[in-house]
Amino acid sequence: MKTTLLPPNKDPMGQAIADYFNRGKAAKLRVFSSQFDEDEIPVDQLFRSYDDMPALEQKALQLAKGKILDCGAGSGCHTLALQAMGKEVQAIDISPLSVEVMLKRGIKQAFQVNLFDEHYLEKFDTILMLMNGSGIIGKLENMPAYFAKMKQLLNPDGCIYMDSSDLRYLFEDEDGSFLIDLAGDYYGEIDFQMQYKQMKGDAFDWLYIDFQTLSHYASENGFTAELIAEGEHYDYLACLKIK
Ligand code: SAH
Repeated sequence: MKTTLLPPNKDPMGQAIADYFNRGKAAKLRVFSSQFDEDEIPVDQLFRSYDDMPALEQKALQLAKGKILDCGAGSGCHTLALQAMGKEVQAIDISPLSVEVMLKRGIKQAFQVNLFDEHYLEKFDTILMLMNGSGIIGKLENMPAYFAKMKQLLNPDGCIYMDSSDLRYLFEDEDGSFLIDLAGDYYGEIDFQMQYKQMKGDAFDWLYIDFQTLSHYASENGFTAELIAEGEHYDYLACLKIK
């Protein structure tokens, strides 16, 4: 489990966010993966307003209460929406350029912190992990470390709202048969690398997880998982609570 921060010269998404914030437009934010063809993240979507957010994200923001942590906050879109609702929220991100933009956008509490830093020890009533928030966990083998950290950060009655997608549709044949090697790695374990202009970041692990697998790991690690809502394309919002 990585506990480090990004240096400013290896922060392509942060650079894209900074460009978009400072100039109102950005170049292509390119995404590479050994498992997929090259793709692109539309930078304007990282600045989505409440009205432009998918229903699952709106639902999570409505349910968020008490002291809230927006984990991996990016440009701070969810934090800003929560602040506008009058809620108390702290944003963290490993990206130095994103944190700089969040502060410039008027976010009251934005810190460059890695969620898994052992020195990061505050208590929250709600923890938000949105836009495939399970990604930060990286790999299934990190689940015990993830839930141990959540136990430290979450108040006893608190709740983690996490969204993710079941990637099985990418591997399913038209007749419904499954093209996955069941003895291999879990099909939601993806490696990514991003590039913005000439700046390339290091490759990183990003976990997509289906609800059943998430429930299994939650239960093994002293948590319960509740399915709050399902989206239109194998995506869902879950609430994780300490048992
Ligand atoms: N939640 C935002 C951004 C999603 S992109 C949105 O919905 O628009 C994921 C973000 O998580 C990136 O900004 C990345 O820098 C951050 N991140 C990745 N690993 C992290 C970690 N271990 N701790 C904190 N932030 C992390």
